[in-house]
Amino acid sequence: MAKIFCVANQKGGVGKTTTTVNLAAGLAKIGQRVLMVDLDPQGNATMGSGVDKRKLELTVYDVLLESASVAEARVRSDKCGYDVLGANRELAGAEVELVEVERREKRLKLALAAVDAEYDFVLIDCPPSLSMLTLNGLCCAHGVVVPMQCEYFALEGLTDLVNTIKQVHANLNQDLQIIGLLRVMFDPRITLQQQVSEQLKAHFGDKVFNTVIPRNVRLAEAPSYGLPGVVFDPSARGSVAFVEFANEMVERIRKM
Ligand code: ADP
Ligand code: MG
Repeated sequence: MAKIFCVANQKGGVGKTTTTVNLAAGLAKIGQRVLMVDLDPQGNATMGSGVDKRKLELTVYDVLLESASVAEARVRSDKCGYDVLGANRELAGAEVELVEVERREKRLKLALAAVDAEYDFVLIDCPPSLSMLTLNGLCCAHGVVVPMQCEYFALEGLTDLVNTIKQVHANLNQDLQIIGLLRVMFDPRITLQQQVSEQLKAHFGDKVFNTVIPRNVRLAEAPSYGLPGVVFDPSARGSVAFVEFANEMVERIRKM
């Protein structure tokens, strides 16, 4: 049975997509069967996995509207070693189109159930909002991975996300929990980042992953080559950290 994780944080530019594609590549590298689902109309995780979003005939949009199955719409990224259920601009329309339909927040959950046995991990890259798309992600997930930059407002932004997760847990998905907070783009030379990091550990204890993802330019360069950093430059510090994080995830779900 696949373990399904959303990578979510309603702030933009915090490292969700980078985390999703590099964790997917890291898990694939250590032998896990992975499906990466792009739930952001920007399609960055799709492009960053070597799949051209403009050339896709079927995407997660078709799956949400039940005009295609996951098996029909997914594509294989050979370079990255995982499957991709891609997204493009069309997905922005789903938000409106889903308003009219039944079970609208459960569409993705139902669709993923059909491929459950084929994967060890399903990773969902969420858009920077707490929208119907994110809700579809949260409804099917066992856990949420929250990437965070250790900056002054980091904790404040977390409150909304934590409340949304509590509501989804209470009303729609009793499996849902925050599996962990991942410190990303970390620069240990910056005192404030160290302080916020300590605050995070004080507040959230072992919900904070041990692995820390450093700020690393190779991770930022990789998307322009259509690759996760882990594939683009495996020896870069950021890539090594993401493989370490993949191992920590495998370890953590054993205890779930
Ligand atoms: P989000 O999906 O939350 O909007 P992204 O993953 O797209 O965020 O990251 C925002 C920007 O930060 C991108 O340009 C990305 O390449 C860069 N970035 C993300 N993580 C790192 C990192 N660890 N080191 C350096 N740059 C990073
Ligand atoms: Mg993104």
